[in-house]
Amino acid sequence: MNNLPCQGCKGLCCGPVPVTEKELKKIKKKVRSMPPRIRSNLQNQPRHFGTCIFYDLDQDRCGIHSVRPEVCRAFGYHKNLVCFRNPAAATEGTWMAEDMHVGLLTVDITWKDFS
Ligand code: SF4
Repeated sequence: MNNLPCQGCKGLCCGPVPVTEKELKKIKKKVRSMPPRIRSNLQNQPRHFGTCIFYDLDQDRCGIHSVRPEVCRAFGYHKNLVCFRNPAAATEGTWMAEDMHVGLLTVDITWKDFS
């Protein structure tokens, strides 16, 4: 399911996002298994203040798509997570996290946590 017009947005909705311990564990595994060149490219891209550290500007997409947090998966489809370019896609009820969060990607959790 992806009828959101993500292409061209350059990660506009990808700001700091809350992650659970389980999600963080998966992300760490993914980041550590990245080829050094890809990881270094992702790490050194000049992003706007507040843009998620994993947003891949060169590719115009999430750099950790297969392990992105639940809130990222829910974005655009729930009444409290509306995509302004396609508000009609937000047909589901209020999204609520199922687990406790351990921090915000980009604010509390930065590249230094993935070394
Ligand atoms: S993890 Fe991926 S989808 Fe989620 S905010 Fe970051 S770049 Fe966007």
